[in-house]
Amino acid sequence: MASVNLKHVMKRFEGKVVAVADFNLDIEDKEFIIFVGPSGCGKTTTLRMIAGLEEITEGEIYIDGRRVNDVEPKDRDIAMVFQNYALYPHMTVFENMAFSLKLRKTPKDEIKVRVHEAAKILDIEHLLDRKPKALSGGQRQRVALGRAIVRSPKVFLMDEPLSNLDAKLRGQMRTEISKLHQDLQTTFIYVTHDQTEAMTMGTRIVVMKDGYIQQVDTPQALYEKPDNLFVAGFIGSPQMNFREVLVENLGGEVYLKFGKSSIKLPGEKARKLEELDYIGKEVIMGVRAENMLDEQIYLDSLVDCVVEAGVEVVEILGAETLLHVKVEGTNFVARVNPQKRVKVGDIIKLVLDPSKIHIFDRKTEKAIR
Ligand code: ATP
Repeated sequence: MASVNLKHVMKRFEGKVVAVADFNLDIEDKEFIIFVGPSGCGKTTTLRMIAGLEEITEGEIYIDGRRVNDVEPKDRDIAMVFQNYALYPHMTVFENMAFSLKLRKTPKDEIKVRVHEAAKILDIEHLLDRKPKALSGGQRQRVALGRAIVRSPKVFLMDEPLSNLDAKLRGQMRTEISKLHQDLQTTFIYVTHDQTEAMTMGTRIVVMKDGYIQQVDTPQALYEKPDNLFVAGFIGSPQMNFREVLVENLGGEVYLKFGKSSIKLPGEKARKLEELDYIGKEVIMGVRAENMLDEQIYLDSLVDCVVEAGVEVVEILGAETLLHVKVEGTNFVARVNPQKRVKVGDIIKLVLDPSKIHIFDRKTEKAIR
């Protein structure tokens, strides 16, 4: 159990690539923190600096209140699980899991107890005598987790541990790792580029881009209140719909206008745009697929927020249907009731729920709210 604190942490590789820039984060004991972002944003480098596998160019890292900048990886009380499992092929599962304890000269009896305990948690007791090559990908990943668990580290560091598994197994292992976190009550720091993985597992998510933290928040808060255009587009599937729109004041009401369509904004959002002097200027409107409503009650009550949409693709997913539509020349995706009978070529009416519309500054790309 431990807190992890990163203070003004920076990493510059030779050749002046700044991989991580001024990274500040306080991770509390028992948190499940996820670093997420596109390839090259600095997630792995940050994790490796916490692990001690990468030198810190500037700044300080604390684990459990102790400054670890100059502490060897093996003395940091952390365990790391990698994408490629890194199991020893000539050793059995038991020997793989026991290896680090043996190095520490842990008594044999204790090693046995700890390996069996970890194997039980991970449901791999029946595999202890096998060699890695006789295991499936999912089983290998469990052994890799087991090897970390036996050490009872203060912090678990995981770098894309599920990316070599197929989609179904990945889903299962996601749940297992979440359970593991609950059982072990230890701090987890987990790197992924997959926003679904981040959203389903993390208690808090750190969204990164180009070496900079974009936002740190709970999954719910990131989804509902993204701070900028990047986070809005990165978190959520299907991706949030975006369109440049003009802010207009017509008779005291504020509208977002694009093509022949216009959306009347509710009081609070309208006042904010007025206050910040956006009337007559272009902004970027963002709307999530589930906030494009097709039910009649909305079409009747929110008449100032209706747009015409040309249906281009109908994606039937069972519990929901995704409509790929064109609104005023822009592609949008709407998530509608699967009962709805729509076909390609139909022109339908949709309400852009004005209370759920996101607005971003065009230049700074920051959320206006
Ligand atoms: P991915 O999801 O692809 O693993 P990432 O977010 O984990 O990406 P990092 O591996 O941390 O990104 O890399 C961040 C940046 O630092 C990238 O631009 C990368 O090319 C660069 N980088 C990483 N390792 C080195 C190195 N050893 N030498 C020079 N540049 C490096």
